[in-house]
Formats: sequence, structure tokens, C-alpha cells
Amino acid sequence: MFSDYLDTLNWEHTTERIYSKTEADVVRALRAEKCDIEDFMALISPAAEGYLEPMARASQRYTYQRYGKTMSMFIPLYLTNSCINSCLYCGFHAENHIPRTILTPEQIVLECQAIKSLAPFENILLVTGENPYRAGVEYIAEAVRIAKRYFDNVKIEVMPLDAPDYKSLKGSGLNGVICFQETYNRARYNIYHPRGMKANFDWRVNAPDRMGQAAVHSIGMGVLIGLEDWRTDITMLAHHLRYLERHYWRTRYSVNFPRLRPAENGGFQPNVVMSDKELAQLTFAFRIFDHDVDISYSTREQAAFRDNMATLGVTTVSAGSKTDPGGYATYPQSLEQFSVSDDRSPVEVADALKRLGREVVWKDWDRTFDLWRDTQDR
Ligand code: SF4
Repeated sequence: MFSDYLDTLNWEHTTERIYSKTEADVVRALRAEKCDIEDFMALISPAAEGYLEPMARASQRYTYQRYGKTMSMFIPLYLTNSCINSCLYCGFHAENHIPRTILTPEQIVLECQAIKSLAPFENILLVTGENPYRAGVEYIAEAVRIAKRYFDNVKIEVMPLDAPDYKSLKGSGLNGVICFQETYNRARYNIYHPRGMKANFDWRVNAPDRMGQAAVHSIGMGVLIGLEDWRTDITMLAHHLRYLERHYWRTRYSVNFPRLRPAENGGFQPNVVMSDKELAQLTFAFRIFDHDVDISYSTREQAAFRDNMATLGVTTVSAGSKTDPGGYATYPQSLEQFSVSDDRSPVEVADALKRLGREVVWKDWDRTFDLWRDTQDR
């Protein structure tokens, strides 16, 4: 399991190594045929700040080689804001006295239909808070089955599950799972996640292993930028990605680097603020490190910045997102998990991407592929 591997890595030592990188290390990383973790640390280090132009060019080249000029579009559907966890940075945390909603099957149908009326989305991400008692595996399975009637590619971002649960959800039509570690700093993880299931660091950090064991087709990972030193956290994410690619090589991987935004409870201020320039540097570095990984940006980011990065390494974007359950049709004015920055409609986002020469892809998976993969998994 990755937790064993992670225990061999020392947080402070990793931080020291990143900040001791020199411009010579950056130049060497840019010339390397295949980037290793040491090269990656050089590319995200302060020493690389003067090398953004060559990094952007390399990132663009590798992206074109692997993805052409395509940009995949997806949309999230929040099913519930009910949660038993107490993540300090989240407006949905259990002690926050807000109206709680769990969409019914009928409401999920309405939301799917409303999304379909926005744009020809075929990729949907079903998102829940973590409440195994009121929105457990059976509820998620039902939601996946409903969504599958409307969308070819159904992913979930829900509480970490057992491998047999992931496997059974595949039977309901599941194609992918996203689970952010938030931070890999084991010593400080419980400061942000003091109670509830999410307080169990190992259970969460080993979730991608369990997805791999269940042969989930696509695994999404990320850290929440704003908790700990982003360079060290991202290096741990890079280790995690390499580890998973070695162990579960038939799976596709995606990464996302959400920057903490103001939540409804308002109290939590990010410990670390990442600038647009630093996010660009990180995105280029990740593409140079891993040519195949899908790099995803959400509507947390500003429209102009998203458009800019769409030509330089990003391969998937969300559009038209509502981060509140029922936000598309049922309860259009309810509470958001976080506020979006890019509030353009999906069609406006797609038009902007086309003007930039992108080939907008609403559908990159067909349900007939599910049947083929099922035969391969047996
Ligand atoms: S981040 Fe997720 S698990 Fe944590 S309180 Fe918010 S909804 Fe719950």
C-alpha cells in the first residue's frame, strides 16, 4: 500500500531538497529524456522561476504529442452536502449549521436533464459529502445508474470506499473515481481533519490502491493548495502517481491542483497562497514529469487564466459548475461548497476554447467500451 511507501519519505528532508535545487538542476531536468522525481523537484523549485518560458514550450509540446489540441469537458453534479466530517476549510463540515440536502432519485433525474440542456456533456462527476449512513454505497450506486442513462462517462468524488465497493459500483456503470488526499503531511493532516472518517489518514491515502485493485478505469488525485507547503505536497503526489502507475498500469490517471477558496463558514484562511505564476509553473512541471497524465482545472480558477493554460498543458476543464446540491434545477439558490471563479456558461467556455484553436471534446468515452473492459478484467 502507498502508506508504507510514504513512510519511507521524510517531509522535512524533501522540503530541504526542493529548496536547495539550483538553476543547473533545472536546466538538467529540462534536457532529461525522462524526468525523475529529482528533476521534478527542480522544476517546481524557486530556482525554476526564471525558466517558465522553456517549461511552457516543453509542456505544450508534450501535451500536443499525447493529446493533440483536444480539451475534454466535464461538469460536476453535487448530490448531497450532508457530511459527518469536520474539514476546517469546508463549508459543508458537520458542525456548520446549514440546510442539508440529499437529492432523491427523482431530483437526480431532473439535475441530469438540466445539465443536458446546458451543453452536450457526456462526462459527469457525481460529488457527495461523506455520510455513509444517509448517502452510502447503495445511494451512490443508484445515482450512478441514473446518471449512466444520460452520460457515457460517470465518475464519482465521494468518501473513500473498499475495493469490493468500487468493483460493485463499476457494475452500476462507474468509470472513474476522484479522491484528493488534501495534504500528504501525515504529522499535520489531523489539524485540518480532526473528526469523522476523514481523520483516518491511512484509509484515505490508500484509497487509490483499492481503486487500482478494483480495476477502476480512471483515478483522479490531488492536493488542496493552501494547507501545507505546496512544493512538498506536490512532490508527494508525484511519488504517489509513479507508485500507482507501477502497480496499476492499466489505469488512467488525472491530477488537479485546487487552490483553497473562501468557504461559507469563512473562518479558515489558507496557510499558503499560490500565485497564478506558481500554478502555471506547477502545471508545466507536471506535464514535463508525466506526458500522459490528464491535468484538470476546475471553475475555481479565473476564466482568463484557464483559457491561457488551456493551450499549455491542461487537458480537461469543467464548465458551468454548480457546487451546491440541486444547483442546476432543484434548488438553484442553495449553499455552495466553494464559490466558482469562472461563471461562464459551458457554451461560452467551449467557444473561447475553440477561438484558441482547441478541439472541444464533450464525449471521450463510449458505453460500449465498458463491455470491452469488463471482458478484460475477468
Ligand atoms: S471537504 Fe468533503 S469531507 Fe470534508 S467537510 Fe467538506 S464535504 Fe465533508
